[in-house]
Amino acid sequence: MKCDVVIVGSGGAGLVAAIRAAELGKDVVVVSKGYPTEAQTSMAQGGINAASTQQDIQQHIEDTLRSGQGLADPEVVEFVCTQAPKAIKWLDSIGVPFDRDDKEIARRKLGGASNPRACYAQDYTGLKILHTLYDNALKLGVRFVHEHFLLNIISEDNRAYGVTLLDKRSTQVKQLLSRAVILATGGFAKIYGPFSTNGEGSFGEGIAAAMRAGAKLSDLEFVQFHPTALAKSAILISEAARGLGAKIVNQKGEQFIDELATRDKISRAIYEQLAIGNEVFLDMREIGEEIIQRELPQERKLAMIYENVDPAKELLPIKPAAHYTMGGIDTESNGGTNIAGFFAVGECANVKLHGANRLGGNSLLELVVMGKRVGESAAAVSLEIEEKNFERTLIDSNFIKAVFTLPNSIDFMERKEFLQKVLFHNAGIVREELALKGVLSVIRQHQKELAFMGIKDKSPLYNTELIAFLEYGNMVELTEAMVVGAVQRNESRGAHYRKDHPKTKEEYHAHTFIWKEDGVLCADFVKQNITKN
Ligand SMILES: Cc1cc2nc3c(=O)[nH]c(=O)nc-3n(C[C@H](O)[C@H](O)[C@H](O)COP(=O)(O)OP(=O)(O)OC[C@H]3O[C@@H](n4cnc5c(N)ncnc54)[C@H](O)[C@@H]3O)c2cc1C
Repeated sequence: MKCDVVIVGSGGAGLVAAIRAAELGKDVVVVSKGYPTEAQTSMAQGGINAASTQQDIQQHIEDTLRSGQGLADPEVVEFVCTQAPKAIKWLDSIGVPFDRDDKEIARRKLGGASNPRACYAQDYTGLKILHTLYDNALKLGVRFVHEHFLLNIISEDNRAYGVTLLDKRSTQVKQLLSRAVILATGGFAKIYGPFSTNGEGSFGEGIAAAMRAGAKLSDLEFVQFHPTALAKSAILISEAARGLGAKIVNQKGEQFIDELATRDKISRAIYEQLAIGNEVFLDMREIGEEIIQRELPQERKLAMIYENVDPAKELLPIKPAAHYTMGGIDTESNGGTNIAGFFAVGECANVKLHGANRLGGNSLLELVVMGKRVGESAAAVSLEIEEKNFERTLIDSNFIKAVFTLPNSIDFMERKEFLQKVLFHNAGIVREELALKGVLSVIRQHQKELAFMGIKDKSPLYNTELIAFLEYGNMVELTEAMVVGAVQRNESRGAHYRKDHPKTKEEYHAHTFIWKEDGVLCADFVKQNITKN
C-alpha cells in the first residue's frame, strides 16, 4: 500500500492533520490500533481554550508561558493562542455543538487561567470534536486503516519512507509506504496503570518507535498529574467542577489548597494529605444539582457508577492521577523532526507549547492549531517512492515470528503491574534521586527478562496478548528514557518535583533531549526555545 501522507493515530491531532492534507489534494491514510472514536481525545471533558477578546489573547499567552515555567517556546505559544479564536470558529463551522450563552459560544474557567476561556460541549467536548472531525475526514475521502498496530517507522539515511504495521486481525506484518509520515499516537500517561486517568492504550509506542528510528525526544520527565480523579477508578473529574465552585477538603472538612492553583500544586497537596493518612474529597454540593446536571452530566454519572456517590449530594472521594505527558518526540514549530519526511503532532510530540506544565484546555487547542500546520507541512513533502520491500519490514516480520517462540516462564502482565506501581510511588508526583535510580534498575531488570516473557496464546488471529506484550516492550523502552530525564534534572520545575532539589535552578533552565545512538541511550540539556524563569 502506498499514499502521499500516512498518519498514525486517529485522535484529534491525527484527524485535523488528515483533513488539512486532504483539503490540499493529498491521498491520506489514517492508521489506528483501534477505531477513531476510541482515541484518548474522546475522553476530554473540560474544554478547549480560545480567548474571546483581543486583551484575553494576550492573557492567554501569559497564562500559558507562566504555566510552562520557562520551558514553553514563546513563538509557538503566541502562534497557538492567537490562532485559537479561528480554530473555534472552524470547529463550529464544521459542526461541533458547542454550548452557547445566548448567541455566543459559552466559556468557562479552568485552573491556572486568568479568565473564563474554555469552550465546551457539556462535558463531552472531546467526544463531540472527535466525531465531527471523523465525519469530515470521511467526506474528504481520507482512507482509514483500523486495528493496525504501529511497529516501526521505515527510515533509511535519515529519511522516512513509511511505517510497518501489525494487522491485529491476522497478525501479518505489512508495510505502508508514503512521501510523509505523521505520528499522532498520543501520550504515555498510562505507564502509571491504575494511577492514570488515561484509557488503555497510551503506553507511548509511537514515541518509542520514533526513538528507535533515530528521532530525538525531549522533556519526557514532565508528567502532569491531575488532582481530581475518582479514588477507586482514577476516572477524571474535570477542572470545570472547580471552575464552578467545587472545593477540595479532607475528612475534617479542612480546605488545604487553593482549588484554582495549577495542577502540580494541588496534586502535591493532595498527595501529602493522603500520605499522612487523611482522606480527600471534592465537595460539589454548593454548585447545585441543576447546574451539575446541565454542565457536568457525564461526570455525575461516572461518579455514581464507579464511586457509588452522587456528587450533587455527597462528598466525592478523590486522588491525583497521571494525566498528560508534556514531553515527546521533539519537533520544530512546523511539526518536523530531525528525520526528513517525519512529523509528529499532538500529545506524542513536544513542540514546546506547554513547557514544564500544561494549562488545562490547551491540549485540545494544540490538536487543532498544530494539526492544521503539520497537515500542511506533510502535504508539502515531495518524493518519489520506489515500491519495494524494505529491510525494516523483514526484520519486523521475523521479530513477530520470534515472539511466538519465546518461553513464557515470566508473566509479563505481573511485571507490568509491578512496574506501574513502582513508577507511581517513585517516579510520580514526588521524586528523589535514590528512588529514581531504584526505578531504573527495575526497568533494566525487566529489559533483560523480556526474552523470557513472551506470550501463552499462540493463536495467529486477533491475538490480544501479543498486542499487550508489544505495548509492554515499548513501555519499558520509553520509561527508561523518561526516568533518565527525571534523574538528570536535579531541580523542581512545573510538573517535575524533586524532594531532594525543591528549588528551580538556572543551570537546568533548558530542555532535556534523549535519543539512541547504536542502541545506547544518550541525554543532554539544550538551552533554546525558552523564556525567562
Ligand atoms: C480524561 C481526560 C480528559 C481530558 N480533558 C481535556 C480537556 O478538557 N481539554 C484539553 O485540552 N485536554 C484534555 N485532555 C487531554 C487531551 O484529551 C489529550 O491530550 C488529547 O486528546 C490527545 O490527542 P492526540 O490526538 O494527540 O492523541 P489521542 O487522542 O490519544 O489519539 C492517539 C491515537 O493514536 C493511536 N495509536 C496509539 N498507539 C498506536 C499504535 N501503536 N499503533 C497504531 N495506532 C496507535 C490510538 O489508537 C489513537 O487513535 C484530557 C485527557 C484525558 C485523559
